[in-house]
Amino acid sequence: MQFNIYSQSKEDLENYFININEKKYKAIQVYDWLYRKKVTSFDEMTNIKKSVIEKLKQDFTFELPKIVQSQKGKEVNKYLFELKDKQRVEAVLMLHDYGNSLCLSTEVGCNMGCAFCESGRRKKIRPLTSGEMVTQILKVMEETNLKVTHVVLMGIGEPFDNYDNVLKFIKIINSDYGLALGARHITVSTCGIIPKIKEFTKEKLQVNLAISLHAPNDKLRSKLMKINKVYPLKDLIEVIKDYIKVTNRRVTFEYILLKGVNDNEKCAYELAKLLKGLNCYVNLIPYNPTSHLEFKRSSQSTILKFYDILKKEKIGVTIRREFGTEVSAACGQLRSSYEEDL
Ligand code: SAH
Repeated sequence: MQFNIYSQSKEDLENYFININEKKYKAIQVYDWLYRKKVTSFDEMTNIKKSVIEKLKQDFTFELPKIVQSQKGKEVNKYLFELKDKQRVEAVLMLHDYGNSLCLSTEVGCNMGCAFCESGRRKKIRPLTSGEMVTQILKVMEETNLKVTHVVLMGIGEPFDNYDNVLKFIKIINSDYGLALGARHITVSTCGIIPKIKEFTKEKLQVNLAISLHAPNDKLRSKLMKINKVYPLKDLIEVIKDYIKVTNRRVTFEYILLKGVNDNEKCAYELAKLLKGLNCYVNLIPYNPTSHLEFKRSSQSTILKFYDILKKEKIGVTIRREFGTEVSAACGQLRSSYEEDL
């Protein structure tokens, strides 16, 4: 069986070389070729001897996705990738003043079924391998000639529903010998799968953790997010408290403002009460309307009122800068529109 070379962590490759009676430092050489020199064939790895190259060719493939569609805005580019088995996922590149951030997908489809989310409208077909996540970054860098400096796992899929591959992906891109993306430049966003948050806590990574909250009480959250029926708010907040204690990291709570649903003053006060005392901040997200779902974006004045209440209640809060509406940037939208036009 052949494996995608981009799914290999440095430790995987070290073990591989040890198993074939070669020195383990060859793993670093291979990493250097893959992630620094960015070659896409073993034949280009000229400091590795012929016999080893032949063995590598037998055991590994170079699998990169194809870009089948892209939309370019001034500060945002959106890409639709086609994978080896013709499944499609999306990534969005955002050009910030502090760097270039790539929002990428972790699964083909998603089973979390959040009421407002385009990705969740379409069921999960399969998880992505770690290599399929790594190569979204490589492909965008090749396409744009830009360096991706930040990665956020907020595209299609629930990262913690594909935990092992996501964790390995983080290790690959974080490796000093690979893309060397700093942990603090990597953000994992989850709808709140408690057992996985607990596992993640034990890893003690310095990455950013974002929790999609979207409601301040169980009644409303369960209506919007099915996952809340399995892992209710009280338990979620408990594991987050523990995460903060162990990692000493500030957690982000994402809160999409949906017109007439979760954007009233009562919700704002309730949210402030829920989060009081936690080392966290709230990222208020203006909703990206999609053509299939009935939710609407809150007005600017409602968003500001909500923001002011949280501020007044001494909760750290930001309003997400709008990037993608002109290029259908809500996750899952490009894939849907492409596939439904076919
Ligand atoms: N499954 C993960 C990560 C992918 S979604 C999670 O739930 O966190 C990334 C973020 O985008 C989540 O906060 C999600 O709730 C939000 N989101 C989904 N659809 C959106 C839309 N139409 N407009 C704005 N944000 C949306």
